[in-house]
Amino acid sequence: MAIEDLPEPIQKHILNRVTGRPDKIFHPNRVYITELVKCLRQAYFKRHLSRVPLKAPDCWNFYRGIVFDQDFGYAMRNDPQGREQDRVTLPFFTSVHHTSISISGHLDFYYAADEDRIYELKTTKNDYYIKKTGAKQEHIDQLMFYCFCYGCPHGSVVYVTMEGATVIPIDNLLTKEVINEFILRIKLRAEALVKANLTNQAPVGERLNWEGTWRCKKQYCKYRSLCYPNEMSLMDQIEPLWNTAHPTEEDEVDADTDTTEDSDE
Ligand code: SF4
Repeated sequence: MAIEDLPEPIQKHILNRVTGRPDKIFHPNRVYITELVKCLRQAYFKRHLSRVPLKAPDCWNFYRGIVFDQDFGYAMRNDPQGREQDRVTLPFFTSVHHTSISISGHLDFYYAADEDRIYELKTTKNDYYIKKTGAKQEHIDQLMFYCFCYGCPHGSVVYVTMEGATVIPIDNLLTKEVINEFILRIKLRAEALVKANLTNQAPVGERLNWEGTWRCKKQYCKYRSLCYPNEMSLMDQIEPLWNTAHPTEEDEVDADTDTTEDSDE
C-alpha cells in the first residue's frame, strides 16, 4: 500500500505531524551538526531557498523518525538514569572571519546506567547496508560531536527498522586523537558554511558517491537540478539502473526533531 492510498485523515495527520512544527530560524553564525556532516551545498540551499510544499508521501520518512524518536525518548525520560533530547552547543572564535561561530545539535539519549553512554537514533527502511558496512560515517560524526561536547567516552548509533534494531558502539573511535582531528575538521566545515551564508555564495557540491551512497539521488536531495542542470536527463536514466543494481540500499532517515526537513538539527 502506498501512503497516498491511506485514508485522508491519516494522510493529514502525517502531514501535520511533520510540517506543523515551527519553522526553523537560521542564524548565519549558528550552524547545526547535521548540516556539517552532509553536503554543505545542500545545507546552504536549505537555508536560502524557500520550502517546497509537501504532501503526505513526501513526509513518511520524517514521520517515521519523529514517532520513534518521541516514543523512545519518552521511555528514556521515564527512567531515573535516562535522559533524552538535550541541546548541545560548541561555540568557537574563528580568526578567519573574525567572528564567533556556534555548532549545535540535539543528542537523542543519554543513559547513565550504561557506562554513561550517548545514543544516536536513526530509523531506516532496512539495515542491510548497516550490517554489511557498519554505521554510516555521517551518523558516527554526529555522535562524536555529542560525545565530545559531553566529554563522554561511550557512544552507540541505534538503527531502528520495522524488523528490529541494530546497535553499533563506536567507543573505539572516541580516542583523544580521533576526536581532536574530527573537531578540527568539523570546525573547518562550519567556517565554510558560515562564509557561504555571509557572502551568499553556495559552497561546491559534495557530489556523487558520497561515502558510497548516491547522495545526489532524488530521494536524498531536491536541489540536484541546481547542481546538474545539464545532466538531469542522464541522471534520471541512470538512477533506475543504479537502484536495480542496489535493491537493498537503505533509505536513511534522521530521527531528531528540530526541523521539518531534516529532523535532526
Ligand atoms: S545534488 Fe548533490 S552536490 Fe548538489 S546539493 Fe544535492 S547533495 Fe549536494
